[in-house]
Amino acid sequence: MEKDSGLIFSAGEIREKGGLTVSRKLDPGLFAGVLEAPAEVAKASADLVFSVGGGSILLDGAVRAALRLECARCGVLFTAEFSETFDELYEDAVESIDVSGALAESVALMPPLKPLCAPACKGLCAACGADLNLKVCGCPAGHGEGFKENGKENPFRALGEPVKKKRAK
Ligand SMILES: [Zn+2]
Ligand SMILES: [Zn+2]
Repeated sequence: MEKDSGLIFSAGEIREKGGLTVSRKLDPGLFAGVLEAPAEVAKASADLVFSVGGGSILLDGAVRAALRLECARCGVLFTAEFSETFDELYEDAVESIDVSGALAESVALMPPLKPLCAPACKGLCAACGADLNLKVCGCPAGHGEGFKENGKENPFRALGEPVKKKRAK
């Protein structure tokens, strides 16, 4: 017997009541393997609205999830929120409705093709691999303008501060 995740609904009960509206927090573990590692679901919830039409049951679903994604430019892991809606039609003969598959499909659609930690992410230096969001590495190949300015030696740095030596007593 599978662990009851609270996502299986009795079709008979929904028909009897003439519909059902449910909001659920979802266990991120439900979505294990749905996203390609290292991406994963950090938090998720769903709003489910079942309505009865004739004998069949229509489900309008909305899923919201916070996903941990790897930036396509700099490789950092970041969290972003997404939402998806879906609908399903269940035929008259159905006895129980398991929505976990529909939820997993919706979550699988969420990550963008190239997730970015920020729209202006500078990515990694092509030459040395430094994260250009954090520092300017100085490689001519990595970037253009910033290089000269930041690579220029400060003429006063050489003078430095006079070193005070502690006198031994
Ligand atoms: Zn990034
Ligand atoms: Zn570099």
